[in-house]
Amino acid sequence: MQSSVAIDESLVREVVSEVLSQLGRKSGCPGNCSEHKCAGPVLLRRGRGLGIFEDPAEACEAAAQAFLKLQEQGVAARAKVVEIVKTLAVKNQVEWAKLELAETKIGRLDHKIEKLDIIKQVPGVEFIYPWARSGDHGITHEEYTPFGVIAAVTPSTHSIPTVSGNIINMVAAGNAVVFNAHPNAAQCAVKAVETYNEAIRAELGIENLVCMVDPPTLESFQGMCKNDHVRLICVTGGEGVVKAAMGIGKRAICAGPGNPPVVVAEDADPDSAAKKIIQGAAYDNNLLCVGEKEVFAVESKADALMAALERNGAYRLSSSQLERLTAAAFTIEKDRAGGCARAIVNRDLLGRDAEVLAKAAGAQVPAGTQLLFAETGPDHPFVKEEQMMPFLPVTRSRDVHEAIRAAKVAEHNYRHTSIIHTQNVGYMTEMARALDTTLFIKNGPCMAGLGIGGEGYLSYTIATPTGEGVSNPKTFTRVRRCVMVDNLRIY
Ligand code: NAD
Repeated sequence: MQSSVAIDESLVREVVSEVLSQLGRKSGCPGNCSEHKCAGPVLLRRGRGLGIFEDPAEACEAAAQAFLKLQEQGVAARAKVVEIVKTLAVKNQVEWAKLELAETKIGRLDHKIEKLDIIKQVPGVEFIYPWARSGDHGITHEEYTPFGVIAAVTPSTHSIPTVSGNIINMVAAGNAVVFNAHPNAAQCAVKAVETYNEAIRAELGIENLVCMVDPPTLESFQGMCKNDHVRLICVTGGEGVVKAAMGIGKRAICAGPGNPPVVVAEDADPDSAAKKIIQGAAYDNNLLCVGEKEVFAVESKADALMAALERNGAYRLSSSQLERLTAAAFTIEKDRAGGCARAIVNRDLLGRDAEVLAKAAGAQVPAGTQLLFAETGPDHPFVKEEQMMPFLPVTRSRDVHEAIRAAKVAEHNYRHTSIIHTQNVGYMTEMARALDTTLFIKNGPCMAGLGIGGEGYLSYTIATPTGEGVSNPKTFTRVRRCVMVDNLRIY
């Protein structure tokens, strides 16, 4: 009797590739091929798969080869990769969200699942279309073309979503990418990258289109960014990584930190404003860089707004509870020169559930409470620091003009995101001019600025200090002009 055995083709290819790479390696070589001149880039084994490299130079080399193969297969191949990433992110949303939460221990499972579900709203190849002109002197055509290999850095706050969104944008533009993920959120990202690569190889025969350095370190960041194959850098994170990327000396697209203020004017509907503020500030325990971080309410509306916040499920802390929470959430560091003291956010409370913060404050909150709030002054550390916790400081301002001035101070000129609740167009214009933020949302929760409940498209990389805004495939292209001079007009 003949027995039938199901053969997993991708497994066979992986085993063969591993055997070949082992054959090309001197015995005892840990995979450092430049030392022993072993064959080809070597994948880390430890149960890992395609696209994962310990050496950033090998990752960049592999991505450069993959870029050439992608180029050969044209726009249809890019569209296929976009489809693969969108399909797999949605298919694996629960498993991957659980992995990311287990690894990072920050945020909320329901929102981590949703952040993968909405990856389908990230734009792909349809966003790349040329500009053309014809005239008496011939025709001119401007194409949005790839850079080649992009070095990308992703944050701990949304690791797989940022990796996935970046792949869609960057590959739609025709590039390959090498990632250095946040060390606290790298293993979940490795899993997603392996899964994407396997599907890309199965569908298109291209290996390592998306690479990841593992383990990611500050040294691997430098090695990756300085590699000759890398022609563009894209970082998503706080002030440190933005500064580091700008110091490399190559073009860098930087999605930096924010501290989004919310102004509530005297004509705002308190219940509508409260519901939207809770929706935004409680999202993934306030890990979003666009998330509402502090509120400036005009004196005449402040009490009504705080009552509405309570009515809609937010829990109000007393002043002594606020004091306890502040002591737990920040360490006050004296400036070395004996100048201004600085509050440093305690990362143990970052992105933790409201119930955990309530415990630190000595408060007992109803189960399922999503957001805490308290009244503070404008100089409170919760106002000044980008705290990424489901706690919202609410301050009173004499009028909307004072509120806008205070909002500008709290935003620190990051020019990231700001929000206002009002029907008064004059107030909207005043705030838009004063804060000059990349995203300015009126009468909505923060995520409306990313196409969730507002018009527009999604990205988890909002380039603020370098000015590209909400990133899309065109962000990762270089413009090339093709000119033909002749008498070509037929009309
Ligand atoms: P983080 O700055 O600690 O880390 C971000 C990434 O940069 C990580 O991969 C980290 O390893 C790397 N990194 C940090 N310092 C570095 C350095 N000196 N050299 C090289 N790499 C370095 O930030 P996080 O806690 O992961 O994420 C939260 C921060 O990111 C917040 O400030 C938030 O506002 C910001 N953020 C911005 C956007 C945006 O689109 N603008 C999106 C998400 C998060």
